[in-house]
Amino acid sequence: MAKALSVAVFDGDGIGPEITAPTLDVLRQLSNASSHYDLSFEVLPAGATHYARTGTALPDASLAAADKADAVLLSAMGMPNVRYPDGTEISPQIDLRMIFNLFAGVRPVRIGEGGLTPLKLPPGKTVDFVLIRESTEGLFHSRASGKAPGTVSDDEARETLLITRDVCEKLFAFAFKLAGDRKKTGRSPGKVTCVDKANVFRSFAFFRELFDAEAARHPDLEADHAYVDAVALWMVQKPWVYDVMVTENMFGDILSDLGAGLMGGLGMAPSADIGLDHAVFQPCHGSAPDIAGQGKANPFAMILSGAMMLDWLGLKHGVSAMTDDAERLRLAIDDLVATQRSLTPDLGGTATTHDAAQAVADNLFATA
Ligand code: ATP
Repeated sequence: MAKALSVAVFDGDGIGPEITAPTLDVLRQLSNASSHYDLSFEVLPAGATHYARTGTALPDASLAAADKADAVLLSAMGMPNVRYPDGTEISPQIDLRMIFNLFAGVRPVRIGEGGLTPLKLPPGKTVDFVLIRESTEGLFHSRASGKAPGTVSDDEARETLLITRDVCEKLFAFAFKLAGDRKKTGRSPGKVTCVDKANVFRSFAFFRELFDAEAARHPDLEADHAYVDAVALWMVQKPWVYDVMVTENMFGDILSDLGAGLMGGLGMAPSADIGLDHAVFQPCHGSAPDIAGQGKANPFAMILSGAMMLDWLGLKHGVSAMTDDAERLRLAIDDLVATQRSLTPDLGGTATTHDAAQAVADNLFATA
């Protein structure tokens, strides 16, 4: 019997609804064609547009539905011109990370043969690494409660960077498990790199100490350390040396956009925020208000986030047809990119959002 799984969907703001609708179409087609799983979707209100209309950014009913669902698929939330009274942006996606304790922000970076990248890769070199960004503490700890000028003195503002044993232990266990899984499939050598600034900050020395403790439990995997500034350089000069990288929240925020740039831009970068019980899948990009409503948005990052969701659900529930379909989705997009077909303007093409998504579906079922 097909495994029934529910997905809570936040279609969000700006280009969010435009990229969500075709992504759900593609996922529905895969689910309908499978006798092994049966996905149902519930689209829920939340975000800046909803806040502007109702005064609530994340309604309790939406949160409760997301809590009950098997997974959450989110497009992008926030609009620069819609803000809370204190001037901060509406970002329920960050609230969800905190509420569901989604400590592991998983950002894969893949550049295959013929992939779009501003790098000149040596012949035969491909890139396939995963950046894990801690997503609940670090420099985002004091997000809405940092000390504004006037609190300590009129001439200074302060934020707090928090590193805790509890979160790091879960984070590093997750990172080594992922590296082990990747090694088992033959995809990588099984290496985890701790990215920090342990030479300057005590908090990062503690981060590294906890990393080393987890590394000692995995003699079959290689553990490595690097300072974040060096990693920014090496991600450009020799990105193929990385397998799984794990880092603090703010460093991960910055490096994941660099990773997106390496593979052709934000329109190609998927992500997942994963905890012990819940997971939210969403593209790395924001709501792109500058191109909203024009049919220009690239749906690939959202569709690839849907593929990550299929992987996670498939592994969690033991449905290999879902992980197979996730790989088919990635290959369908790889093929369009390598042959430069049906690409949106951010990738140098002229396709609309709808046409690009339709081409993914066509590719998927043409090769089935
Ligand atoms: P946030 O702070 O919410 O992450 P941001 O301010 O960093 O958002 P984005 O909304 O991600 O910015 O947009 C950055 C740039 O990338 C914009 O020029 C936008 O048009 C472009 N962009 C983002 N996502 C896409 C997409 N899916 N397709 C095409 N262009 C995109």
